[in-house]
Amino acid sequence: MAKGKISVSTENIFPIIKQFLYSDQEIFLRELIANATDATSKLKTMHSKGEFKGELGELKLEVKIDKEAKTLTISDHGIGMTQEEVKRYLNQVALSSAQEFVEKYQDDASVIGHFGLGFYSAFMVADKVEVITKSYQAEGDEATYWACEGDPSYQIKKAKREERGTDVILHISADSEQFLEDSEIEGLLNKYCKFLPFPIQFGMKTETFEVEAENEGDEPESKEIEVPNIINNPDPLWKKQPSELTDEDYVAFYKELHPFSPDPMFWIHLNIDYPFNLTGVLYFPKLGNALTDNQRNKISLYSNQVYVTDDVKEIVPEFLTLLHGVIDSPDIPLNVSRSYLQADGNVKKITGYITKKVADKLNELFKEDRKVYEEKWSDLGLFVKYGMITEDKFYDRAKKSALLKNTDGKFFTLAEYQERIAANQTDKHDKVIAIYTNNADVQHSPIQGAKDRGYDVLVLDQGMIDSPFIQTLERKEEGWTFVRVDSATPDQLVQKDEEIENLLGEEETEKVKELYTEIVGSNGTVEVKPLGTTDQVVQIVKPEFMRRMMEMQAMQGMDTSMFPDTYQVIVNANNPLVKERLLAEADEEARKEKADYLYKLALVSQQMLSGEELTKFVQRSLNRV
Ligand code: ADP
Repeated sequence: MAKGKISVSTENIFPIIKQFLYSDQEIFLRELIANATDATSKLKTMHSKGEFKGELGELKLEVKIDKEAKTLTISDHGIGMTQEEVKRYLNQVALSSAQEFVEKYQDDASVIGHFGLGFYSAFMVADKVEVITKSYQAEGDEATYWACEGDPSYQIKKAKREERGTDVILHISADSEQFLEDSEIEGLLNKYCKFLPFPIQFGMKTETFEVEAENEGDEPESKEIEVPNIINNPDPLWKKQPSELTDEDYVAFYKELHPFSPDPMFWIHLNIDYPFNLTGVLYFPKLGNALTDNQRNKISLYSNQVYVTDDVKEIVPEFLTLLHGVIDSPDIPLNVSRSYLQADGNVKKITGYITKKVADKLNELFKEDRKVYEEKWSDLGLFVKYGMITEDKFYDRAKKSALLKNTDGKFFTLAEYQERIAANQTDKHDKVIAIYTNNADVQHSPIQGAKDRGYDVLVLDQGMIDSPFIQTLERKEEGWTFVRVDSATPDQLVQKDEEIENLLGEEETEKVKELYTEIVGSNGTVEVKPLGTTDQVVQIVKPEFMRRMMEMQAMQGMDTSMFPDTYQVIVNANNPLVKERLLAEADEEARKEKADYLYKLALVSQQMLSGEELTKFVQRSLNRV
């Protein structure tokens, strides 16, 4: 038996490992199982290349708890290690990389969950670690025993072992005894190893099955047998060929990942080998009309089928965190801090690849069946718009299948819409004016006014996303301007050089202005001007730029209550009511009453009257009956 001293200056590493990032202690299990998986994969690869000619046998991993001995054992039938390799890998490679890791990240607790300490993370939960390993190259039962008690010395000696592979035996320390509980370990295995590429056994389980009764006609009997409790699905859907899979398979896998979510709308199977390796499936969930934070972070990151994290913010563009599913890539560097990750060349390429795939999928669906795509738009639009706002590359790719919907429920692409409105809605400055409503009910009468002029009105009512979307379109699509339907009188939505004759004289116009200025008071400004004779008599508008400024300030969290909520009151000099009912009324009080009534009517029709004012208005209307 040999006794040695680990050569690097390791005096203080064990206590640090022990305390290192207490909250992430559990990842020791993932690290050891990842090692066992690597050792097994290597053997399988060597076998397929003919470098290993022996029997592969059953390439199963096993995790065992011995409550009495207080040990947790992780076993594999992988390549194993010779004594030389144990010295090299465990005493030198593993220890020095653990040390380097600790030195680098002592202050950055977020990293360990991603990267981990490797083999030495065992010392986060164990006082002593033993390894019994037999190399695939070993003769007979020749094996190696190694043990370390959490100090820089170790023990190494020859041992006997029948089966090829490695057992790592952890003597769980007193303060980590939860890792001797079946439920705890089973929970961790489910979290980290659910899709491991080799079967992983944790104890036995009872299975009940029915056998035919001995006497014909009797009820079948149920029998119980003990079978290995395999906790994983070694062949998860994302590793299969898309051509082998049906829609039902994809939906079933989604249900496995997110049991309580409604069915996804569709999905993308990611599968690329070069210039980086990445597989996975991303699902488009039904998002509805609002973005909430609990829709996010439902993409799990795996590395060679070992779970790493649910937090993929740095790996996919922000808008894609709304998708659900799995990304598996051994090429995402996990051993770097998060801010560094975004600058990594591979990560950038991966980000670009996923963005492209998502846009391609949207374009494909749109092309294949536009009707179905339009039906899905209410759940999809939010996502597409969000992506177009935040990612220039996505904007360019997804633009072809981004849709605008008008108040008649018809859908248009940007190009189609431009063509539709160009003739009638180009203003005197050659700008194409897209008119929209953010609430078709409240803005019903201005919408009607716009339609009467032959204008088309878009519905852009998806809460917080549509204002920035409008700004993005204005920035990207040269010559487009959006105006909300209630931001001007219908004739002014698209400014043209039309002169309409005023049917009132100058004096009369002035009189009407005075009348209304008194009524409206400080609530807004008054303008009397000639519109079409059938255009509404009193209209209330909020200029587009004023409203946008308020919206922007509100979005930045500014208190907008100090800004007066004023509007413009436009009186249509050419509406016959002005001349026939207002100006023709001899009694001054009665004229004022009528003018006020028309004003209140305009407020009511745009749902701008509430509280006591509304009650009074209703009463007044009843008195007129
Ligand atoms: P890493 O896995 O990142 O290389 P580790 O500290 O986890 O670092 O392990 C160091 C080395 O020890 C591995 O690269 C491998 O060669 C060897 N090793 C660890 N566990 C096993 C195992 N179960 N079977 C065979 N070799 C192993």
